[in-house]
Amino acid sequence: MEYDIRREPVYGSMRLDKTRLVPYNRESALEAAELLKYGELVAIPTETVYGLAADALNENAVKQIFRAKGRPQDNPLIVHIASMKMLPPLVREIPDTAKALAERFWGGPLTMIFPKSDKVPCITSGGLDTVAVRMPASEAACEIIKRCGFPLAAPSANLSGKPSPTTARHVFEDMNGRIPLIIDGGECEVGVESTVICFKGDKIHILRPGGITAEMLSEFGEVEVDRAVTAQPEKDERVLSPGMKYKHYSPKADVYVVNAHGKTFEEYCIKRSRFENDLIVLGAGVAERGVFHDYGSTPEIQAQRLFALLRKADELGAKTVLVEMPEHSGMGLAVYNRLLRAAGFKIIELEKEYGNN
Ligand code: AMP
Ligand code: MG
Repeated sequence: MEYDIRREPVYGSMRLDKTRLVPYNRESALEAAELLKYGELVAIPTETVYGLAADALNENAVKQIFRAKGRPQDNPLIVHIASMKMLPPLVREIPDTAKALAERFWGGPLTMIFPKSDKVPCITSGGLDTVAVRMPASEAACEIIKRCGFPLAAPSANLSGKPSPTTARHVFEDMNGRIPLIIDGGECEVGVESTVICFKGDKIHILRPGGITAEMLSEFGEVEVDRAVTAQPEKDERVLSPGMKYKHYSPKADVYVVNAHGKTFEEYCIKRSRFENDLIVLGAGVAERGVFHDYGSTPEIQAQRLFALLRKADELGAKTVLVEMPEHSGMGLAVYNRLLRAAGFKIIELEKEYGNN
């Protein structure tokens, strides 16, 4: 593709001094829609994470998303709609299972991949002949899409590679000077990105786990989880979801997932913290003290807190972050998937060495 990827502000020589951050209300929704109609970028709240939105059908507007984020151009974007009427023009076919899933889980954190129509520009689909579509639950996101009257491409509103933003302040940290407007809708409810699925015959194939879990989807057909969800892709391996190739969600610190719980986990972390100054620990339901931070005792809470805590690690100047292994089922799979990428797949296996406790 001929597009160049520049890690510089969106507006080149017209660099903005400051990005405006305003609370979500009727007026700000209108202003966001006006800017989006002019092909500008606006960061918007959704129930998953904050999105960096542009008119999904406007090639030039979408180009600015890749520039502002420094996102590789073969990583396709999710197209957000606010009503079922908006789906048919974007796709060539809607499988029956997709109709049933939409009925049940839209608006909500479920993204489905369809064969794309010619209306969707190649840049939006990362050069693929498929398009990812989702209808958010967030009132703010839906209101802005409705005011626009066109679908919005909206990847997470962070610099590529950094933890996704779950508050408007996170977006401001990454996007100040790069976009004109951020709409503040408070903290995101889910905290991790949507579940991404495609269809393989009658099977539902999970490309990225998220708020709609494998267990929830299994009512609608056989569910399989892509290998790349929990395994590091081989060099040059073709992955079904290009986003899976990239290191993601990473703070500056080195992140390790520690496969141990309870006393084994805590004793290991305490021992390391005696010798390493800039170390912090994210434990599942641990008492907050010293280097220990609680990232939640249920997968749902862990999902809500994870990205904010990875950003906090940077604020605290941590060089090492040790994270207790999350569960692998339900929402736990989404937490595990994000953590593996933040950690570059570095796992410390204590259970094997010292046994369970
Ligand atoms: P983000 O926009 O950061 O939430 O990432 C979107 C995710 O959806 C990435 O992992 C993409 O690779 C994936 N995705 C988007 N469109 C497609 C598609 N057409 N086929 C496969 N994966 C897709
Ligand atoms: Mg992202």
